[in-house]
Amino acid sequence: MSVGWLRACALVMLGLFSVTALAKDKTAIVIGGGLSGLTAAYELQNKGWQVTLLEAKPSLGGRSGMATSEWIGNDKTQPVLNKYVSTFKLSTTPAPEFVRTPGYLIDGEYFSAADLATRQPATADALKRYQKTLDDLARSIDDPQSPAATSTLHALDQINVSSWLDKQNLPATARQLINQDIRTHYDEPSRLSLLYFAQQNRVYRGVSDRDLRASRLVGGSQVLAQAFVKQIKTIKTNSPVSAITQDKDGVTVKVGSVGYQADYVVLAVPLRALNKIALTPALDAQHLAAIKGTNYGWRDQIMLKFKTPVWESKARMSGEIYSNAGLGMLWIEPALKGGANVVINLSGDNARVMQAFGDKQMVDQVLIRLHAFYPQARGSFTGYEIRRYSTDPSMGGAYLAYGPGQISKFWRLWERPLQRVTFAGEHTDTLYPGTLEGALRTGQRAASQVEDLAAGKSFEPAKVVPAAAAAGAAGAVAAKKGNFFTNLFGGSDDEKKPEPVKAPEPAPAPAAPAPAPAPAPAPAPVEAPKPAAPVKTEPAKKAPAKPAAKKPAAKTDAKKAPAKPAAKKAEPAKKPATKPAATPAPAAGTDSKAQ
Ligand SMILES: Cc1cc2nc3c(=O)[nH]c(=O)nc-3n(C[C@H](O)[C@H](O)[C@H](O)COP(=O)(O)OP(=O)(O)OC[C@H]3O[C@@H](n4cnc5c(N)ncnc54)[C@H](O)[C@@H]3O)c2cc1C
Repeated sequence: MSVGWLRACALVMLGLFSVTALAKDKTAIVIGGGLSGLTAAYELQNKGWQVTLLEAKPSLGGRSGMATSEWIGNDKTQPVLNKYVSTFKLSTTPAPEFVRTPGYLIDGEYFSAADLATRQPATADALKRYQKTLDDLARSIDDPQSPAATSTLHALDQINVSSWLDKQNLPATARQLINQDIRTHYDEPSRLSLLYFAQQNRVYRGVSDRDLRASRLVGGSQVLAQAFVKQIKTIKTNSPVSAITQDKDGVTVKVGSVGYQADYVVLAVPLRALNKIALTPALDAQHLAAIKGTNYGWRDQIMLKFKTPVWESKARMSGEIYSNAGLGMLWIEPALKGGANVVINLSGDNARVMQAFGDKQMVDQVLIRLHAFYPQARGSFTGYEIRRYSTDPSMGGAYLAYGPGQISKFWRLWERPLQRVTFAGEHTDTLYPGTLEGALRTGQRAASQVEDLAAGKSFEPAKVVPAAAAAGAAGAVAAKKGNFFTNLFGGSDDEKKPEPVKAPEPAPAPAAPAPAPAPAPAPAPVEAPKPAAPVKTEPAKKAPAKPAAKKPAAKTDAKKAPAKPAAKKAEPAKKPATKPAATPAPAAGTDSKAQ
């Protein structure tokens, strides 16, 4: 008989039985071991909850372990991230100058931003004009937490970014570079809601690249996940959740034939992964539509390794480089011992189309394009690594990128708990989706919602669009901003008649079978903790009413999970092209998300 139970009996006999008295016996299950789930588990545990974290994969950290060297902002721009960096005493290294401003590869020729102004003034002017129009658009949103506050702004949600760009009559090269920038950081412009694009630009308005790319974590961003993992007592890897059943007394979570029970659940998995979990009671039509339809950006990364740099030695060729010629966004790592790594980011529809290719074919396609500009490329080529984020079933895309009409339908939907289940994950953050900061923020929010629920608080449905207030507010915006919206659409009356845009189709299924096995093993696994304190969450006595349709990959518990899964395996993404540097060096390509 547990001490807790004896204590409860004693309290009942004394007439003092209360929720507060038993608070330390409150149990929660966190599903998903990405940064959002790890944060929720850590925060709940710190508040005295007994937490079990279930992660489908053998390793923890989710997407944060994949892009191994994200740039992180300073504490002004990413306060939550920086708070944990200092709590866990993690070391950072300052960002080098070359990552602060992007470069351009125009028909194979490299241009810094300064070069562009002198040598391609028409392109530079067009980029400036675009930036100004975008900034005006961002400025029109007063509150980024409420982007569709007026009917005019709401109308922007029905327009895709590509249509808006069409109206700006940009010269071809400028348009290609802008397309590349947008698809790298969000998704294909034609699949992106103009309101979402404006809202994100509003969030980062006035924030300098210097502040956003201030440093990176020594050892890559997975060290943050590792720091959380060390603190969390009960983690079960290889535990893909297939069903969640909740009733008035608690929640049962199924992993294969094993059930776990707890008072509350934090569901911290991406929407495509959530689609594979059976919920009882079932989700309503709006949630189901959001799961199926919410757009995620597509991004795949190919690292090409060369014996020596194949580009002009005089060109700086470092940092983020946007190509106008189908190569996507390039990231060139500093050469190590004469070698050089180029990371090519294939994004948006380029990434979608390339799903039809096997890894080797995909690399060939990229090499053909690179070879056209740099004929030494083939001779110097030594190998490659590929990360396909878009088709990983636990992700289904890189991160949230609302398509046309989707803010109107799904805004803040996942901030609202459903009975005993709260939601976390980058896709549930209003301000910083698609970032580490966003994931961490939602873990904190979900943990505090669990506490609120336990304290008896109820959550009202979030209002998507304040319909009645819209007309008046639109007038106010018009008065305040003058003719801004009419100017925005070329002086036409588009404000009243926004261009009808069809919601994008869900991402097409890969046209070819699953990619051939990549030469690179899975991304850096984060060590699961050694079997910790005895697991408090007991297996359910009864299977839930609806048994899982899918056979789980494994039903291993923390004891059976390898204490250091694959930790000894080589981590090619972190390996330099030639020999490891003496000091930890960034080796895999960064896909720095300029925000
Ligand atoms: C290519 C790329 C580049 C990026 N660059 C940057 C950058 O430069 N800067 C930045 O700030 N952010 C960047 N990000 C975004 C950042 O990595 C993510 O926002 C963040 O890691 C998401 O964390 P999460 O917890 O929401 O989701 P995830 O990390 O995806 O975690 C979800 C977890 O749930 C698990 N799971 C799924 N289904 C189940 C199930 N049924 N049962 C149990 N577990 C399950 C998954 O395996 C996964 O571990 C980038 C992302 C990508 C893909």
